[in-house]
Amino acid sequence: MSDELDDDEAHAPDRLGPRQVFALVGREVVALEGDPATGLESAEFRNLADGTSRRLALHHLFLFIGADPNTDWLKDCVDTDDKGFIVTGGGARSLETSLPGVFAIGDVRAGSTKRVAAAVGEGAAVVAQIHALLAERSTTETV
Ligand SMILES: Cc1cc2nc3c(=O)[nH]c(=O)nc-3n(C[C@H](O)[C@H](O)[C@H](O)COP(=O)(O)OP(=O)(O)OC[C@H]3O[C@@H](n4cnc5c(N)ncnc54)[C@H](O)[C@@H]3O)c2cc1C
Repeated sequence: MSDELDDDEAHAPDRLGPRQVFALVGREVVALEGDPATGLESAEFRNLADGTSRRLALHHLFLFIGADPNTDWLKDCVDTDDKGFIVTGGGARSLETSLPGVFAIGDVRAGSTKRVAAAVGEGAAVVAQIHALLAERSTTETV
């Protein structure tokens, strides 16, 4: 575990100590330097707000780049939020989209937890919801 977690770049030392973790937001990585034998030695980051660059000596780098749902192709079919994630749960079933009989699960669903176990759990849960829908429809059709 780290001794430090900071997100103020002004406080970032040019060289991080062995147990230091530094969080930089709004930056893109523009260069990595190192050696196959010794590993990563430094990284250069560009500040997206002002375009300035800074190099930090480090040995480990974790990137969190966010998620971009691939849903452009169905935007006219089902409701999505302002980022393109599919909205569910407007009706009786929590995983059903705005188009009755169409369901969404996992990372692409607005408000989902974005974790493997959550996606798998939604996959299991949606089966019951589909069965319920089919049962409802077959009842309606036979009446
Ligand atoms: C770098 C990284 C690290 C992660 N680490 C963890 C972790 O440690 N623990 C954890 O729990 N979760 C982690 N996650 C999140 C986890 O991967 C997701 O929550 C999980 O994979 C979601 O599963 P999913 O089936 O909803 O989506 P995905 O796994 O993204 O599957 C969606 C699939 O649909 C395909 N697809 C997309 N568009 C189309 C299309 N138009 N037609 C056909 N196929 C299409 C894609 O190619 C993909 O195969 C991590 C994610 C990333 C990116």
